[in-house]
Amino acid sequence: MQFQNAEPFRIKVVEPIKRTTRAQREQWIKEAHYNVFKLHADHVYVDMLTDSGTSAMSSNQWGGVMMGDESYAGSKSFFNLQRSVEDITGFKFVQPTHQGRAADFIMAQLYVKKGGYVLGNLHFDSFKGHAEIAGAIPIDLIIEEGRRVNSIEHPFKGNMDIEKLNAFIKENGAENIPLIIITVTSNGNGGQPVSMENIRSVSEIARANGIPFMIDAARFAENCYFIKQREPGYQDKEMIEITRELFSYADGCVMSSKKDGLVNIGGFICTRHEDLFPQINQLAIINEGFVTYGGMSGRDLEALAIGLYEGIQEDYLSYRIAQVAYLGDQLAERGIPIIKPTGGHGVYVDAQQFYPHIPQSQFPGQALVVELYRTAGVRGVELGSCAFSKKDPKTGEIIYPDLEVVRLTVSRRVYTDRHMDVVVNALEDVYKRRDQMKGLRITYEGPILSLRHFTARFELLT
Ligand SMILES: *Cc1c(COP(=O)(O)O)cnc(C)c1O
Repeated sequence: MQFQNAEPFRIKVVEPIKRTTRAQREQWIKEAHYNVFKLHADHVYVDMLTDSGTSAMSSNQWGGVMMGDESYAGSKSFFNLQRSVEDITGFKFVQPTHQGRAADFIMAQLYVKKGGYVLGNLHFDSFKGHAEIAGAIPIDLIIEEGRRVNSIEHPFKGNMDIEKLNAFIKENGAENIPLIIITVTSNGNGGQPVSMENIRSVSEIARANGIPFMIDAARFAENCYFIKQREPGYQDKEMIEITRELFSYADGCVMSSKKDGLVNIGGFICTRHEDLFPQINQLAIINEGFVTYGGMSGRDLEALAIGLYEGIQEDYLSYRIAQVAYLGDQLAERGIPIIKPTGGHGVYVDAQQFYPHIPQSQFPGQALVVELYRTAGVRGVELGSCAFSKKDPKTGEIIYPDLEVVRLTVSRRVYTDRHMDVVVNALEDVYKRRDQMKGLRITYEGPILSLRHFTARFELLT
């Protein structure tokens, strides 16, 4: 078995990527005002901007695309998806949506009442936004280790703090908490997993207090693989047993299928409660489309029905998690500061430690993103002082986030380990020259502070 540790697939179709020169990249990033969201993707050699919607589909999935049933109502592809979802999650009622955030919207409309607190480990932005619009206050109750880059290697840094959860319910009253959500893996702190034990405990507390409990399942397969690897009692279980157990503790789930669904678009919301389903259907009809397609084409439903099974295959997951760990280990070996242990979908570099001489007001994370692109055409993304700064409502002063990181996400089944070597060698080179790097000045923000990373323009400080 240990002889067969290369990629568990061979390549049938290739998509060429272009090699470029440093001079070209310097010009392109300047024209993009030093914002990598404005680059043309074909000027990128290894794209690590996101793992969302960037997966490579299998020959089976492409076969499914041809078989997709495009009927407006009662599509065969919908029933195939329903069967996959029920088999893997145990949830009988599934509503497709055009993306995960549309499922978030339906969940917020369904559960969140004005003035309530929605408790989570670390809420994802799109649900947070929908909850706030619905009038609720999202609260993050992740364990302390999950908030620190340099915390000792905790195996489940996505866990919710059970003591804090109990205390919060006691203090604020269960009647003021319409919903608890656990996001697996925890995207907000580096794709860190949540243990089965933690999910079980949260579920028991939710049930005892009559609070609905949902799972944000975008990366459920990667989370279940970490459970198999790291949690006592799961080593000998089949992946599908673990996924079924995980979902058995919840009332339902929302899913962005652009991650562990191994497809390029789509999502869904599930429930085990028949009485809630008509409301979900109605919200879908006015926003997404008829209940059996919900904003997805038949071919996309079909590819997802297949992709969900491929996403929980153990051979695939062991390759997937090992590739991300390989990238992290190689970087750490060269002294590059990263969040440890590496999570499921990427490596997070601590930019403040990387460039200690650049203050957050001069965007050290963005500086690293820019220099990595100029060096090798590798596109990462800043999650720090540009993306997450807030303004003090009274003084107007900028409040910088605790973490200043650059995320290097690994797309599923897309790049080989040799591409990872390109990233490692490039970052090593950038790290050797770190003393010479200067920060950036923001010259344009766009209208909304919390979204400025998509539109911001920068100048290099000299
Ligand atoms: C991506 C993501 C979403 C939103 O899904 P989209 O398909 O991008 O709309 C919600 N929650 C988590 C945890 C995600 O990673």
